[in-house]
Amino acid sequence: MHTTLCRHAVGTVDDYIEQARARGLEALGFSCHNPMPEWYDLTARMREEELPTYVGWIQAAQARTESPRILLGLEADYFPGTEDYLRKQTTRYPFDYVIGSIHPFGGWMAPYQDREDYAGLWAAYYDLMAQSARSGLFDVIAHPDLVKHWAPIEVEDWLPLARKALEALAEAEVAFEINTSGLRKDVEEFYPRREFVEMAQELGVAVTLGSDAHKPDDVGKDLEKALKLLADIGYDSYATFESRQRRGVPLDGS
Ligand code: ZN
Ligand code: FE
Repeated sequence: MHTTLCRHAVGTVDDYIEQARARGLEALGFSCHNPMPEWYDLTARMREEELPTYVGWIQAAQARTESPRILLGLEADYFPGTEDYLRKQTTRYPFDYVIGSIHPFGGWMAPYQDREDYAGLWAAYYDLMAQSARSGLFDVIAHPDLVKHWAPIEVEDWLPLARKALEALAEAEVAFEINTSGLRKDVEEFYPRREFVEMAQELGVAVTLGSDAHKPDDVGKDLEKALKLLADIGYDSYATFESRQRRGVPLDGS
């Protein structure tokens, strides 16, 4: 879930909690967009001086809420060169989990888009993802085929490029998320799509679930579809996090 601090989400923390309760969710994780250095794209994220406010909001919600369980997370951009900055930021507060995201910021996509080198763009994306996994900064990697928005080629042409990133995730014991918000976008499918999840399962990469709500009504949306997909593909559990420790929740509900 996001908060108004990231400048592109609506609703109060309590609105999100209310909706989670209405949907019968056991846990609700907040993971708003992190502050980044001055030179980075700051349009859709909180400022440095807002991070304590964010942490304070979520901790206050934890203190007054028994159910659902509220988790303090962060969605942090991964960009080479910002590792030390991020390490300081993510160890300063008692986060339950930190999501690493590769977004189209920082200018890394431009050379490929200019040449319409979509396979090159996918390769660069998954290179960054492998690096992000090895950085040791993250528990989860977000929406791991997001660049399908900007590099429209067939899945058979990009999936082999994802393998190295998935191997790095397996090796570093970093999970990826099935993010249901893709169903609400023009791609009309999860991030990532099924074929990626199949390869992840084969390689033994842990998976978690998120609805990436930027408005209260989207809290927990389509999670049951994601659970069904996981069962279909042969996963027997999904991951949750507390104090940056990962725990598997069996899919059969036992
Ligand atoms: Zn966002
Ligand atoms: Fe994101």
